[in-house]
Amino acid sequence: MSDHYDFVVVGAGPAGSAAALEAARLGYGRILLIDKAPLGRTKPCGGGISPRARKVLKRMGLWEAVHREAYPIKGLRLVSPGGKEIVLAGSHAASVLNRSRFDTILTEAAIREGVVLKPETRVHGIIEEGGRIVGIRSDAGEIRARWTLVANGATSRLVPDPRSVACCTPAWPGSTGSLSPRTSLRWSTTRA
Ligand SMILES: Cc1cc2nc3c(=O)[nH]c(=O)nc-3n(C[C@H](O)[C@H](O)[C@H](O)COP(=O)(O)OP(=O)(O)OC[C@H]3O[C@@H](n4cnc5c(N)ncnc54)[C@H](O)[C@@H]3O)c2cc1C
Repeated sequence: MSDHYDFVVVGAGPAGSAAALEAARLGYGRILLIDKAPLGRTKPCGGGISPRARKVLKRMGLWEAVHREAYPIKGLRLVSPGGKEIVLAGSHAASVLNRSRFDTILTEAAIREGVVLKPETRVHGIIEEGGRIVGIRSDAGEIRARWTLVANGATSRLVPDPRSVACCTPAWPGSTGSLSPRTSLRWSTTRA
C-alpha cells in the first residue's frame, strides 16, 4: 500500500526544510517532509550563520526568529589539532546558533505553511518507473509523489553522488582574514 503526496522532501536539515517551505509557498500542493531523526536532532556543526546565509534567511522571512536566539560574532578563528590557525573576520556581521534550534526553526516554519512532517522515518530508496522518479521507499512503506527532492545530507546514498571531492571556499564579505579568497578546503567523501 502506498501513500500519495504532490511533493516529497527527504531530509529535514536546512536544505530540505527550506525547500519544503518554499515549495509550500509556491503552491506545490500536499508536501511531505520526511526525516529519519526526531525534530531537533543534534548534529555536529559549528552553528555559524554566514552573512550570506543571513541574507537568505531575511529573504525567507525567518531572520527575526533566528536572530532572537543567535549570538552575534564578528569573526572566527579555526585552530587545527596541529596548531595551525585560520582567522576570518570582516565588516559583515555573522551569528552562531545551536544547530538543533536552527533546524527546528526552519522545519517549524515549513509546518506552519502546511508541510506535513514525518519524523523518525528512514528512507531506503527512491522508486523509479519508466525512467522517472515517482516516490520513495521508507519505514512507513511506499510514498508516491509528483516531485521528489532528496536532501538527506552530504553522505546521502539515495542518489548517485556526483561529488567525489567536495570543495568549499570560505567567503566572508569584506574579509580581512588570513585565508586568501582563492584558498579552498578539499576533502574526499567516503561512501561505505
Ligand atoms: C563538524 C562540522 C561543523 C560545521 N559547521 C558549520 C557552520 O558553522 N556553519 C555552516 O553553515 N555549516 C557548517 N557545517 C556544514 C553544515 O552542517 C551542512 O552544510 C548542513 O548541515 C547541510 O545541510 P543539509 O540540509 O544539506 O544536510 P543535513 O543537515 O545533514 O540534513 C540531512 C537530514 O537528512 C536526514 N536523513 C539522512 N539520511 C536519511 C534517510 N535515509 N532517511 C530519512 N532522513 C535522512 C538526517 O537526519 C538530517 O536531518 C558543519 C559541518 C560539520 C560536519
